[in-house]
Amino acid sequence: MKIIPVVCQRCGAPLDVADESVRFVTCAHCSTPLEIVREATQSHSRILEQIQAVTEDHSRRLEVIELQNDLEKLDQDWERDRARLCGRNETTGKINDLPAEGQLMGGMIAILCGLAFPFIFFKWEVMHVLANIVPVALAFWMGIRMIREGIWIQAAFEKKRDHYEFIRASLIARIQEAKHG
Ligand SMILES: [Zn+2]
Repeated sequence: MKIIPVVCQRCGAPLDVADESVRFVTCAHCSTPLEIVREATQSHSRILEQIQAVTEDHSRRLEVIELQNDLEKLDQDWERDRARLCGRNETTGKINDLPAEGQLMGGMIAILCGLAFPFIFFKWEVMHVLANIVPVALAFWMGIRMIREGIWIQAAFEKKRDHYEFIRASLIARIQEAKHG
């Protein structure tokens, strides 16, 4: 059997690879790290930098896919949270833009009713003034409670939204980084 010498893929210098167990060598002439690819008829060397580059490219692509999956899941989670906090339009099924819309509107209506009440029923008699205090106070109390709840829900919503946007931006930055090295 004629032995074909294995040479360095970069400079062509012959390599000492008589030992079959040797897989990785460094060229004595140009110091290039090489992988010895042994085949039935002929062996050859492969420059390791290229292999590494391919591996790096592959793992980078995997990272991009993983990050994109994370992004998709983040968007889905946020969609669900948003639907829970803002509610959906009953006819279109679309998520409302504002959280706590019902509480804020309801609270304002209650306060307006409280304000309107004396003008509708008020008479300049002591008994009527006293009779009006209870429903007016009740309407104000209900209205303020609802508005306070609405403001609380809105603050919680904004906090969640800011958190979501922050995570999303950092995921997108990482995807860009992974894509372009
Ligand atoms: Zn070489």
